[in-house]
Amino acid sequence: MSTYEIRHGGVSDIGNVRPTNQDRLLVDGGLVVVADGMGGHNRGEVASRLAVDAVREAFAADPSAEGLVDAVRHANRTVWAQADADPDLHGMGTTIAAVALVPAAGAGSKAGSATQLAVVNVGDSRAYLFRDGRLTRLSSDHSMVADLVRAGEIREDEARVHPMRHVLTHAVGVAPEVEPHVAAADPERGDRLLLCSDGLFNEVDHGEIGEVLATVDDPDAAAARLVELANDHGGNDNITAVVVDLR
Ligand code: MG
Repeated sequence: MSTYEIRHGGVSDIGNVRPTNQDRLLVDGGLVVVADGMGGHNRGEVASRLAVDAVREAFAADPSAEGLVDAVRHANRTVWAQADADPDLHGMGTTIAAVALVPAAGAGSKAGSATQLAVVNVGDSRAYLFRDGRLTRLSSDHSMVADLVRAGEIREDEARVHPMRHVLTHAVGVAPEVEPHVAAADPERGDRLLLCSDGLFNEVDHGEIGEVLATVDDPDAAAARLVELANDHGGNDNITAVVVDLR
């Protein structure tokens, strides 16, 4: 459905401190997903894998903006059901950030906008748009520090080092239902998308991320450079970055 040629590159890295990598990424045609699992032992890995697989399957059956929201709700029910059924998996959950190229509502009625970017997130994995040298966020974090930033109580740079920065207000799989954050954007040729886990943006600031996206043309090399910077700055968490170019 997309009239865009898509180039993408993605890296998921364990970082310098964590014993396992509980992040997961998927690029499947026009669908891009990053999930950051949580839960002791290997529960986080199970949660992020289940959620990403559930989103992929459900979105394939309904590749629309509404279909992407429904796919994330389906992922929530899938993880919740597994956690509920298996005591070993109890308490697992995951963030999710998903972006998909979908037919615009009323496609064909407006010149040049037959395709839309659908954006859905739960938790603090993020989707960004890099366009004309400017990095803007498409997702909205469900986290305690994001609430404090929105309330004007702390600044963005304080949120990145705040002791409560890992505390989420919503996650996939920790309750029977979830209310995802939903956004949309009109894509343009030349757009560059970045999806990432908090292991990237807690280590690498907004300006540095924008600098890499502005200067490293190859999406694989850009994703690898972002992960390298996060590790250079500490690598205190798993780090996942996916760069997608629309041409
Ligand atoms: Mg993380």
